[in-house]
Amino acid sequence: MRKKAVIFTLLVLMILNLAGCSNENRATRTGENVSNDNTQVKTIKIAYLPITHALPLYVENELAEENFKNFKLELVKFGSWTELVDALNSGKVDGASMLIELAMKAKEQGIDLKAVALGHRDGNVVVVSKDINKVEDLKGKNFAIPSKLSTHNILLHIMLEKGGLTYSDVNVIELPPPEMSAALAEGRISGYCVAEPFGAKSVAVDKGKTLFESQDLWEGSVCCGLVLRNDFIENNEAIAEEFIKEYINAGHKAELKDNVVRDIATKYLKAESEVLDLSLKWISYENLKLEEKDYNELSKYMVEMGLSKNPPEYSEFVDNTFIGKVK
Ligand SMILES: [Zn+2]
Repeated sequence: MRKKAVIFTLLVLMILNLAGCSNENRATRTGENVSNDNTQVKTIKIAYLPITHALPLYVENELAEENFKNFKLELVKFGSWTELVDALNSGKVDGASMLIELAMKAKEQGIDLKAVALGHRDGNVVVVSKDINKVEDLKGKNFAIPSKLSTHNILLHIMLEKGGLTYSDVNVIELPPPEMSAALAEGRISGYCVAEPFGAKSVAVDKGKTLFESQDLWEGSVCCGLVLRNDFIENNEAIAEEFIKEYINAGHKAELKDNVVRDIATKYLKAESEVLDLSLKWISYENLKLEEKDYNELSKYMVEMGLSKNPPEYSEFVDNTFIGKVK
């Protein structure tokens, strides 16, 4: 009998223990649920450089925050394209507003990025010193671009061809954008093409003049794109959709170029009023969808100029799923 009682007691203890275990499991699961709920308000980190070309991003950050249901937006400022590309490629940020050519090169090198929208259309100018009146005058002169992998470099190529010169007729140098207006004023370069507001900076203080606006050389040219890491998209589809929807809405607001937009631009760019006026006059934030025709034109130029041997196919690099859902 006593043996049976001992066995019975042991069984009861085992059952109680199992019940305890299961309670513990439930508690852990509840804990997981709580943490899952928390991760739904995820922070999405987007890299940018302080240029007029990334304005929809600033407008989204300033005006759309109350509309965000599933995420928080954190804009991460960088001082150079090289640093920005390193952060994006290593996954320190989830996406970036960046020169589309740099993103294409990263994709070509195996970083799985997707271009989900454009930053802007047009909005670049060729600025030259006062003694330059036509393309031929640039022969043998120093001309600055921010990076070989840029629409600015492609615009230079188109301009030289148009003017009957070849790329080797000028000394092309890469300079950090904020240095370009000083280099022009000091006569170290005779012209440059770069993201805004650094072109407007020379024109506003009358140290340089506009030789061409980008639409004179390449109608509807594409330059900066909104790029996301594909692993981020795959793991956070709802967030990506919401983020891109608000980005496109911010683009429509940016296109108004009203006082609200100007205040936001001033906050992020620290540009003077005259510089900002010019810069906004040249740029468009309408139709931020990267169309196949424009992309293929860009790819063609990159191959023609030896900037890329094998640019990514439109279908593998451009993801219009989300922009396609925006009404
Ligand atoms: Zn741009």
